[in-house]
Amino acid sequence: MTNIPEIFASMVFNDDVMRKSLPQDVYESLHRTIESGSDLDITVATAVASAMKEWAISKGATHFTHWFQPMTGITAEKHDSFISPTENGHVLMEFSGKELIKGESDASSFPSGGLRATFEARGYTAWDPTSYAFIKDNTLCIPTVFCSYGGASLDKKTPLLRSSQAVSREALRVLKLFGNEDVKKVTPTVGAEQEYFLIDKQYYIRRRDLMYCGRTLFGAPPPKGQQLDDHYYGAIKPRITAFMKELDEELWKLGVLAKTEHNEVAPAQHELAPIFTNLNTAADHNQLMMEIMKKVADRHGLVCLLHEKPFAGVNGSGKHNNWSLSTDTGANLLDPGKSPRENAQFLLFLAAIIKAVDEHQDLLRLSVASAGNDHRLGANEAPPSIISCFIGEDLEKVVAAIVNRTSLKNGDREHMEIGVHGLPTFPKDATDRNRTSPFAFTGNKFEFRSLGAPASIAGPNIILNTIVADELSAFADTLEKAKDFEATLNDLIRTTFKEHRRIIFNGDGYSERWVAEAKARGLLNLRTTVDAIPYYRTEENIALFERHGVFTREEILSRTEILLETYSKVIAIEARTMAEMGRQEILPTVIRFTERLANAVNAKKKANPALSCKAENIVLEDVSERLDEFYDRLATLERATADVPKDCYDSLRVASAYKDTVVPAMASLRKVADELEARVDSSLWPYPTYGELLFNI
Ligand code: ADP
Ligand code: MG
Repeated sequence: MTNIPEIFASMVFNDDVMRKSLPQDVYESLHRTIESGSDLDITVATAVASAMKEWAISKGATHFTHWFQPMTGITAEKHDSFISPTENGHVLMEFSGKELIKGESDASSFPSGGLRATFEARGYTAWDPTSYAFIKDNTLCIPTVFCSYGGASLDKKTPLLRSSQAVSREALRVLKLFGNEDVKKVTPTVGAEQEYFLIDKQYYIRRRDLMYCGRTLFGAPPPKGQQLDDHYYGAIKPRITAFMKELDEELWKLGVLAKTEHNEVAPAQHELAPIFTNLNTAADHNQLMMEIMKKVADRHGLVCLLHEKPFAGVNGSGKHNNWSLSTDTGANLLDPGKSPRENAQFLLFLAAIIKAVDEHQDLLRLSVASAGNDHRLGANEAPPSIISCFIGEDLEKVVAAIVNRTSLKNGDREHMEIGVHGLPTFPKDATDRNRTSPFAFTGNKFEFRSLGAPASIAGPNIILNTIVADELSAFADTLEKAKDFEATLNDLIRTTFKEHRRIIFNGDGYSERWVAEAKARGLLNLRTTVDAIPYYRTEENIALFERHGVFTREEILSRTEILLETYSKVIAIEARTMAEMGRQEILPTVIRFTERLANAVNAKKKANPALSCKAENIVLEDVSERLDEFYDRLATLERATADVPKDCYDSLRVASAYKDTVVPAMASLRKVADELEARVDSSLWPYPTYGELLFNI
């Protein structure tokens, strides 16, 4: 039996280890830096580096790395060993304060969206002491931010930290007005539930689409899919249980609070949910979680698929971002609370979030946009590409009563005053779960459900923090000036709910009716990545990010470029993979099959001219027609790919060409290929079927 408390965080240089291994003054000084974000003294860094090195070596580490999160969406690391040669030909294990604080890195191969001119290929990494260092694969990993030499951020962590600061700053202003003088800091908290598929590696390596693109580009639907819902929360197969056990243990060693593992709706699909923690740590942990999932799967002869939509016709994989704000005094600001004062404060935060979601639908939508997620959002799957907000029936009643100035109890025209006095205790509704809403209030937190499985959670949380910070800031401006606080507060909450009620939707987000209704309400429906991304760089949004010090104009422009370029690259790789599989695998297979049929007809006629050959002839004709169609569509796809503008600096034009011509050509080719798969001798078919991938595990 594993002793969980013993292994938990055994590979993390956390507060406990620091307190034990650092001199007290160093420990206290480091703590101050962590709390206040002030600069770190080099003598402190030297002492910390030395303790870190001793600790790491005692755990078997030989190398260290500055671990960072470039715009590729995955983590990057460059390993250096601790060894340092001595004069007499021996080595010492060394790690200096300077090496801890700052690293130089050739940034030229990481996406920068034009931010870093080629002559300035250097970038640097800087220690983020607010996330603990840890050991992975005998390497001490130091969480860092990644910037260009000019100081522009080239990663996901820098703006995440900046946005957390912004929301803390503005929330503190509001809290002060409610008399919470003791609160010094507000921290976003996040629990990111992660969905994934596990398939047998033997099948995986026989499919180029899975290997190159992480998703199947072809594949006829199997007779059984997820209709029976018999996989959901079903008994977990022994092989998967073994995987999950090892995964949990690996994650626990790294201090990741892996809590629940269960089967999801689709066959071969599973979910892992951690217990929430502060956002910075949650973002690091989610990256680690995805990495470790892949590694552990490999050890079990499995492959972990984190693509948003690995299989057509089967549920895709997402990530649920549970988000709230918590004070350093231990209060959850999205907990409705018990006293009227807490209620009023809660309602103000709720109003700020609802307003933020309504006013910044574009940003929330684009924060989850990717080529892969286009197959979920806006397709026949949830959540929809329309951003709306679910608050549950009970809370909706409160909002309605406030807007209509009616009483909550019997709906009569008695004043529904908020104030800091006289508000009823809220019915706390955690049972009403609307699974179709992209952004749902679930009792004491909001759950943003539109994230794709492989995405870093940084992007959506940067947006969430920033837009909420902006609304809180405007609220604070109004309330700080108020002569009559209660009356102004009342008015502010009522007006906000009234003006932004259109974003609240508690119905079925998958229905066609909602698409029409949302349009009537004036809500945005940005169906694809290419539709959504350009909103990033509107003057209004640039001003918003600059106002809160989250992104500079240059950073926004470069990130927009990266997102569009990435989209184009992904589609280009998919199109090429499809064409390759089409030419080299599907065409020859179908030709061989028709050849066999033709030979069979000839042989039969030769043996006995009176035999009919009806079945052979029908199949031959049917398959031959589809083969011709396949060939034409393959040629169309190749032409569409070749016609995308090359050497074009307008990345939006390029991405639009992929979206408008290549993506439809891919869908059309796939359709006829899957029809062929369903008609051709299965022993000839060149790659494993959906049935094998999803059910043979
Ligand atoms: P579900 O029904 O969606 O599976 P749960 O209620 O079990 O969800 O919780 C989902 C996630 O929300 C978990 O990761 C949990 O830790 C997280 N969570 C709970 N409270 C908070 C909070 N205050 N802030 C952020 N995340 C939270
Ligand atoms: Mg959830």
